[in-house]
Order: sequence, then C-alpha cells, then structure tokens
Amino acid sequence: MQQLFAQHALLPSGWASNVRLVWNPAGDITEVSINTAPAVDEVQHQWVLPGMINLHSHAFQRAMAGMTEMAGEGKDSFWTWRDLMYRFARQITPEHIEAIAAQLFAECLRYGYTSICEFHYVQRAPDGAWYADIAATAKRVLAAAEQTGIGITMLPVLYSYANFGEQPLRAEQCRFQTDVADVLAIVQALEPLRSAQVEVGAAPHSLRAASIAQIRALQAGLPAERPLHIHIAEQSKEVQDCLSFSGLRPVQLLAQEIGLNARWSLIHATHLLEDEVSSIARSGAVAGLCPTTEANLGDGLFPLAPYLAQGGRFGIGSDSHVSQSPVEELRWLEYGQRLQHQARNIACQSEQKRVGDFVWQASLAGGAQASGRRVGALQVGKRADLLVLDAQHPNLAATPLEDVLNTLIFCGNDNLIRDVMVGGKWQVQAGRHLQQDAIAANYVATMQQLQALRQSQE
Ligand code: ZN
Repeated sequence: MQQLFAQHALLPSGWASNVRLVWNPAGDITEVSINTAPAVDEVQHQWVLPGMINLHSHAFQRAMAGMTEMAGEGKDSFWTWRDLMYRFARQITPEHIEAIAAQLFAECLRYGYTSICEFHYVQRAPDGAWYADIAATAKRVLAAAEQTGIGITMLPVLYSYANFGEQPLRAEQCRFQTDVADVLAIVQALEPLRSAQVEVGAAPHSLRAASIAQIRALQAGLPAERPLHIHIAEQSKEVQDCLSFSGLRPVQLLAQEIGLNARWSLIHATHLLEDEVSSIARSGAVAGLCPTTEANLGDGLFPLAPYLAQGGRFGIGSDSHVSQSPVEELRWLEYGQRLQHQARNIACQSEQKRVGDFVWQASLAGGAQASGRRVGALQVGKRADLLVLDAQHPNLAATPLEDVLNTLIFCGNDNLIRDVMVGGKWQVQAGRHLQQDAIAANYVATMQQLQALRQSQE
C-alpha cells in the first residue's frame, strides 16, 4: 500500500482538509480519510486534485498544430483545413504515430490530463492496404500511452463513406477506410491489452462517414457497456447535408434511429436546436466539447447555458491538439459563452457558483463516463490519478482555498501543475515528465523527417 497526505484535496463533494489517500499496488484507491494528521516528517501536499480526462484526441494531429494558420486562395474553412490534414495523414508511418503520440501524451500529463480517449482513424498503410496486424497503428498509440503512463480509451473508428447517402470515399481517405467487421476485428485484437489503464470502445466517425445500419451493427457487436463516441453537428454544412439526406438534423437522426444513452459521447454537438439540446441532456449522453479546436476550425459555439439548465453532462477534449492544456479548454469554454452572450459566469449552477470549481468537477464526471474507466474522482475504487498544484507559485501562495480552482483556470499562462500521478505512479515531478527528454528528442527527429518529406514534395 502506498499513501499521500494532502492538506487540501478536491473530493466529489468539494474541497476537504487533512486528507489521506491510500492506494494498492494495482493503482486503485483503497482509502480516503479526511481530518487526519500527517505522520512525522511526512510530505504534505498542499492542493491535490483528480487528474482530468481528455475525452477526444486524434494524436497524430499534434504534429500539424501551428502549420495550418495561413490563408489560402478562397475562404478558409474547416473543409480546407481537412484537406491539409488528409495530405499530412498520408505520409505518416506507424513509427511516426507512436513518436507523435508519446510527445502529445507527455505534454497532456504535464498540463493535468491523466486519461485520454483516442478517436483513432489512421489505420491502414499509405497505399490503403492493411498492415499485417489490423490493429498495428492502434497498438502504436497504446505503446505511447504505456511509455508515458497516461490512461487511455482506444476508440477504433468506423469510417466507410465520404458523405451522407453512402458516398464513396475519396482517394485521400483510403488510410481511414473501415467497415463494421474491420472495427470489431480491431477491438478483438486489442482485447488482450485491456487493463486498469486501457479500455477499448469504438467510434463511428460521423453520420457522414457511417450509415445508420452500420452504427446499429457496431453497437450490437461491441461488448456491452463499452463507450461509443461520434463526431456530430460540428459544422453548419454537415447539418444542411443531413437535412437534405434525411429530413432530420444530425442529433435528431441519431436520437431517432440509434437512441442516445449514457454509453454515447457526442463530440462537438455544436449546432443544436432546442429539442436537440433537450434530447442530449435528458439521455445521459456526454457532450464532448473541444473549445480550442472548435475555435481554431471556426466551428461555432455549443449552447452551454440551456444544456446545463437541463442537467446536461459534458467533458472536454483537445481534439486537434492546438492546446494540450485542460486549463485552456475550460477557460475558452467559459469565454466563448461570455463573448457570445455579453455576460459573465455562465458555466456554473445555483449549487456551485464558482465557475472554476463547477467546470473542473463537471468535466471530471463527464470525461470519466466517456472514458468507460474508473477515473475522475479521489474516491475508493477509482484509479489513483491525481495532480499536485505548485503551492509556491505566486498565483497560489496566498490564495484562499475557495479561489484555487478559479485561479488555476483563469489566471495567467504558467503551468501551475507540479506533480502528476497516474494509477499510483508519479509520471510528472517538478513540472517535468520523467521521460520528457527522450520523448522530445524522438519527436523532433520525427518532425525533421516529416518536414524533409514535405519539402521534397513541394
Ligand atoms: Zn475529432
């Protein structure tokens, strides 16, 4: 058994004082006691939080961050960005995928994510052929998770069509192509790798890329209770295309034909009418919000206030990885709403009026549900995934307890997370990931190769 003493720890009920956490060798919390005393000479951590869950990631896109911010000939949009992403995705090898994912995961850990849900769709070789192992690229991402220590939910993607009405895929989408049998075969191949650190679900890419019949078959073929994620209603054009195809909007179509429940995470769900807001909120599904990517891609703003008023669940994801920080996602979640409504303090509730406290706790709960793993709370039976804040930092050194989370989220850009534990093991200490230098060196070498490849093609 291992243990830690926190002067203050964030429990599901809120901040508690003089907290002792005990976990077993498997990394599961076995005891949470409050109002205890430290042993003589025991390290006293001042502020301890549960680690955040990043519920939506395409790890390879980390390598494109910062490279798509130049205007093209016409009006740039999500769709022109997507063309660039397709070109990039054509070049990367399984080795590149692992190196990029390891860099990303080490960064995510340093900024406070201890779990990630990987929406994984680069599954075939550049020419569209399968690798000898159908789960080859998924296993590379899992290897990166193991190396860095982050907990992961792997979601192999069902990706069959280019648009509604079963339009054939374009040549540049050939690496992504899967049918239901492929996805279930990948899930099967990953079963032996499931553990307390690794879960496996599945993800129909979108209603554009998977048919209703396929989604039904995937849902039926996946082991019960495993998470299902889908991109939905991210762009207005997608909503219009769905209306033209079916007479329904995407969330209406999914709710009517598949049914929403707590197993589902609806990624983005940006463009919603009132009835769609209600149907997601009532269903117990999680809205997977990715504010920095949604801003970067010009998606739009999620209708957060009416959704929260109806008890809607949400979590956050970094998606394209223009940011690797949950602080930035949560800040922009709130700021987008303030800018839109010309009002302040929107992401909160009558029982929790502090925005920072509300969004951190709500994202933990929603993210944990989306991950299908025992994470997101300092609670017996959950994983010992936790963050220790830098109590010496000027932002925090004289901060009252009730303002700590608001300060973490809304004050400045220094990383206030000092140490990070996942499954009872320290992975970040004094702000550095334990393998940070080796992982970064491998990432830099990978990026040099990819840049040289790009230049040789221009
Ligand atoms: Zn995405």
